[in-house]
Amino acid sequence: MIPLSVPQIEGNEWQYVKDCLDTGWISSAGEYVNRFEKLVAEYCGAKYGVACSNGTVGIHIALHLLGVGREDYVIAPDITFIATLNAISYTGAQPILIDVDPRNWQMDLNLLEKFLVEKCDLQLINDRTICVLKEDGKRIAAIVPVHVLGNCGDLNRLTNLAKRFHLEIVEDATESLGTTFNGNHTGNFGKLGVFSFNGNKIISTGGGGVIVTNDEALAKRAKHLTTQAKNDPMEYYHDEIGYNYRLVNILAAIGVAQMEKFPEFLERKKETDAFYRKQLVGVGDIEFQAIDENVNPNCWLFTFKTAKMRELLKYLNANGVQSRPFWVPMHQLPMFQNVLFYSEKQISNTIYESCISIPSSSGITPEERQEVVTKIKAFYAQN
Ligand SMILES: *Cc1c(COP(=O)(O)O)cnc(C)c1O
Repeated sequence: MIPLSVPQIEGNEWQYVKDCLDTGWISSAGEYVNRFEKLVAEYCGAKYGVACSNGTVGIHIALHLLGVGREDYVIAPDITFIATLNAISYTGAQPILIDVDPRNWQMDLNLLEKFLVEKCDLQLINDRTICVLKEDGKRIAAIVPVHVLGNCGDLNRLTNLAKRFHLEIVEDATESLGTTFNGNHTGNFGKLGVFSFNGNKIISTGGGGVIVTNDEALAKRAKHLTTQAKNDPMEYYHDEIGYNYRLVNILAAIGVAQMEKFPEFLERKKETDAFYRKQLVGVGDIEFQAIDENVNPNCWLFTFKTAKMRELLKYLNANGVQSRPFWVPMHQLPMFQNVLFYSEKQISNTIYESCISIPSSSGITPEERQEVVTKIKAFYAQN
């Protein structure tokens, strides 16, 4: 079976993990954690990085840091992996879902603007302007854009909208390490951004995440909150409810080795993407995800649209090519069926019903890529 997206271990992972084991530094303190944070932050041009046990808790902490809580709404796209909505829910806030753009499958910014203009108001409370939902007067605290599949939308327009409506941005950049918009790395467009190093991501620590920010105070608090909010090196004095969300040194060691290889992995992802686009253009009814001009995506996971998605999915998985459907739209899940879903054309349903992801590991060989294409062509020859 040619796997969908698996980690690639080919660098100093063994050596660095052995170093942790040999020295006993296997837990939540250690040099590799600091090095990993620094490597990720430096790579994407952010001032600070705070490692955490996974991307989901990273998003939770980022929202918590901005004061998002039970009385708030948080805006998110209807097409995302469940982790985004889970993290929002952990804060007690309620999500508001915005339908996605049929071209690039990211949050539809025309719809977002329309929603903010028509359904929301600005209010001055205690000298602070906040955005509220007209219907119930509850605050909308933040937007969590998700850079779906390592692509992204018009982040200039998004940041301008957020400014205009006094909304904070936390980027769910979990899939997008290496992606740039107008030459700037994702993760830098909001107050905080979060990367994931889960097993299927472009590089992996097994499980892990890094919160990036350019705000020193937020970085310090992120570290504080992810380490049980202990504020004295000796005394067990904790000054608020904290979390045990720290990445352990042994996993950070893997992360350091993975970061050393990251430029190569990124190149290979791009090669695979270019190959699939060249080979699959015009095959059956295949339609690709659109990439806007000012976006340079990391090409994390190749996904395309076809009306025959279900049949193709079955065919490929039965023929040695691991493939996966796209996420069920958030508004269809039982937990979110009653939340506000802002949509005109139910694009997320169409995308869900027609998108399929195919093998895109950074370790995929040219022969394997060719086999994937051959199988897809064979399917359309018969269907
Ligand atoms: C992977 C992913 C996450 C969460 O990352 P974990 O590290 O697995 O917790 C969040 N959002 C999206 C869109 C993801 O793909």
